[in-house]
Amino acid sequence: MAAQVLDVVFYDGVVSKPWAAQISPIDDQSVLIRYGDALQKQRRYDYAAMTLVGALGKIQPVIELNDDARIEFSQALPEWFQLRHKDVHHSIWKLERTPSLIVFSLVFVLLMVFATIQWGIPSAAKYVAYQLPASSLQKIGNEAEHYILEMTQPSQLSQARQQQILGSYQKLIAGDAPGKVLFRQGESLGANALAIPNNTIILTDELVALAQNDQEVVAVLAHEQGHLVERHSLQQALSSLGFSIILLAITGDGTDLISALPVALVGANYSRNFESDADHYALKTMQQQGIPTIHLANFLERLAQDAGEDSQAQKSPLDFLQSHPATQKRIQAIKEFEQMQHATP
Ligand SMILES: [Zn+2]
Repeated sequence: MAAQVLDVVFYDGVVSKPWAAQISPIDDQSVLIRYGDALQKQRRYDYAAMTLVGALGKIQPVIELNDDARIEFSQALPEWFQLRHKDVHHSIWKLERTPSLIVFSLVFVLLMVFATIQWGIPSAAKYVAYQLPASSLQKIGNEAEHYILEMTQPSQLSQARQQQILGSYQKLIAGDAPGKVLFRQGESLGANALAIPNNTIILTDELVALAQNDQEVVAVLAHEQGHLVERHSLQQALSSLGFSIILLAITGDGTDLISALPVALVGANYSRNFESDADHYALKTMQQQGIPTIHLANFLERLAQDAGEDSQAQKSPLDFLQSHPATQKRIQAIKEFEQMQHATP
């Protein structure tokens, strides 16, 4: 039986001092603890009175007893120790006893996931979007452009009309970051406009036709210029990579991920934040150029109506139309911007 005696640390529940103690089996139901300066004191404990805590009983298990005493093992529980076979059961039971801990853990994990999605991924995407070299932007953008060209048809607008719009863009919107403007017949994209990372804005014939005057077209170009300058399409596509983008931001190694971007670019829907950022960019530009900002609101309104009538266009993954449900809010924001400008000379 001597081999079954094990040195442990024992707290008697009366004084806080740890005792050098010995534990040994009495029978299947209970154990004997000998402690005190000369191991002269004894206590008998039933397994039923024990709670196993800590590390699933594998490393330095601790047994709590119902008289506030406590046994600390310096190694795994011995073979003869009956509680050993109830390790998992008791650990689970311990967790069940503290539902607040479970709820807390769950809430914590959910918050972490939420924070990562809400802020971590967009931040990483923004970081990477501005870290990528111009050659990568060009390559990704060119591929995306290729997809869009396949989805659309050559523009039916006359050269003169195209030059007219291009002239307005260069004079009023482009500033010191002029992009390439491509005219296309939108087909399934309908009235639409988009900005892709190879410094290109694509404008559909349908959009030009929907505008009631050139100032509305200019307003759209100003909005797209905002997306272009702030690299929104790239950020959105990078965000769509999800958690991998955080890894990419940390390691800087994303050759595989980057190759998936052109497709992601075409499928990416701008977030509300990007839309309102681009609107704001447009409003500032229009204001600087003396173009009434109401033209952007007017056009958004018409675009929303157009999308409502044309269910095909509503399904379009691109830019403006995606934010359709938020259009009224955006129009409201534009009108507020205008009022603020009038209020402060
Ligand atoms: Zn937009």
